[in-house]
Amino acid sequence: MERVYIGLGSNLASPLEQLHSALAALAAMPQSSLCAHSSFYASDPLGPADQPRYVNAVAALDTELSPLCLLDALQNIELEQGRTRKAERWGPRTLDLDILLFGERQLNEPRLCVPHYHMHARAFVLYPLAEIAPELSLPDGRALGELLAACPFEGLERLTTSETVTSEG
Ligand code: ATP
Ligand code: MG
Ligand code: MG
Repeated sequence: MERVYIGLGSNLASPLEQLHSALAALAAMPQSSLCAHSSFYASDPLGPADQPRYVNAVAALDTELSPLCLLDALQNIELEQGRTRKAERWGPRTLDLDILLFGERQLNEPRLCVPHYHMHARAFVLYPLAEIAPELSLPDGRALGELLAACPFEGLERLTTSETVTSEG
């Protein structure tokens, strides 16, 4: 088993429901168990500003899947939840599932770069991640606390939701 952190995001078609469905799908992922997830956060969009705000969260999954099998499974969940791939980068989407960290691995493959190339600078990744893994360090040794100190909470808003989803139910 390896511990994986997954970033979730949605800004179309009822983002809160999209995230709840995605967490249920992660909880049902084969050879894996969903250990924890953060609160939900509203965030300002990256890239084109003429799109709705996002809802984001981070989930912790223990998995026996290989990194590329997990990526396939995550992309299937995105497609099942109506994601369409458009030419515009960072445009609005029903669901984005990014692999932030995969154990201590550092991968640089055409389809998969881990740690996620931009996680260190994204408040909507770092703050939710800190909720579920405050003591975490990146494979290069940088502590999450260090990254947070350099990344203002700006543009982020913690939402209050009560339900928690894990594989244990
Ligand atoms: P960003 O990566 O800046 O957050 P995005 O999530 O909108 O942008 P996508 O359109 O979801 O980008 O993904 C584009 C491609 O990125 C995917 O087809 C996938 O193969 C590749 N990719 C590389 N590294 C990762 C990763 N760590 N997690 C998910 N996808 C990745
Ligand atoms: Mg993304
Ligand atoms: Mg993505």
